Amino acid sequence: MSSPHAPGQSPELQDVRRAIRRIMADFGPDYWAEEDRERQFPERFFATMAKAGYFGTLIPETHGGTDAGVAVASVIVEEINRAGGDAATINAQMSICVTLVRDGSQALKDRYLSGIAEGRFRLLSVAATEPDSGADMSTLRSAAYRDGDAWVVEAHKVFISMADDTRLLLLLVNTDQGLTLFLLAREDYPEGIAIHPMPMITNRLTTTLFIDGLRVPDAARVGALGKRLAC
Ligand SMILES: Cc1cc2nc3c(=O)[nH]c(=O)nc-3n(C[C@H](O)[C@H](O)[C@H](O)COP(=O)(O)OP(=O)(O)OC[C@H]3O[C@@H](n4cnc5c(N)ncnc54)[C@H](O)[C@@H]3O)c2cc1C
Repeated sequence: MSSPHAPGQSPELQDVRRAIRRIMADFGPDYWAEEDRERQFPERFFATMAKAGYFGTLIPETHGGTDAGVAVASVIVEEINRAGGDAATINAQMSICVTLVRDGSQALKDRYLSGIAEGRFRLLSVAATEPDSGADMSTLRSAAYRDGDAWVVEAHKVFISMADDTRLLLLLVNTDQGLTLFLLAREDYPEGIAIHPMPMITNRLTTTLFIDGLRVPDAARVGALGKRLAC
């Protein structure tokens, strides 16, 4: 049966809209202008959204989320932007983890998902683009080479949003079986991932990322070998 409500206007979604508007009343244009001017991560806003419990919107309840679904996630993003805010960090934290929910091993899910839902772990970045590879990812040169039960990674990525502000990142590289994703916890590789700011016209906390001979366990792989960056 079709819904009696216009799209995005069900009572549940209206509740979410009202809740986000209440939050946004404390984050007016001055807040966003300063974050943009100073090229800062919106720490106070991120902490407020974590406390409100929205980061688990697409995470199953078994892993600490609410599993409220994509309509709720869309309304959250819509209301932040409607109020003049910048939903990029919140959208990243809510959405990128879906790859982990869908394709991650049980061990990776158990280790990270509840922390992502709480905002303790930031998973904000997907590192795919390279100097000579954009929309057409078949030309990616970054690679992981097998070494026993681990991989040795060589990567150069550009235009990566928020890589310096995230604790976890998804890295897309070539393997002998095709393009494959790995989840890297930055604290596990304190010396292995070099991240530099990349100047952009708008503040997207954009970076370049270099990895040179980093040893990564196969347990960090997300999804099958050659699965690529599937949406
Ligand atoms: C603000 C910002 C943030 C970003 N954040 C990230 C990030 O976090 N992680 C990340 O990995 N990347 C990020 N990117 C990079 C972004 O994903 C790439 O810019 C995008 O993939 C396009 O690549 P490109 O700019 O090299 O353009 P190109 O790949 O050169 O494409 C240029 C144009 O040609 C079209 N085109 C390309 N190939 C074909 C084809 N075969 N057939 C038809 N049309 C084609 C494209 O649609 C596009 O319109 C970011 C970029 C920006 C601007």
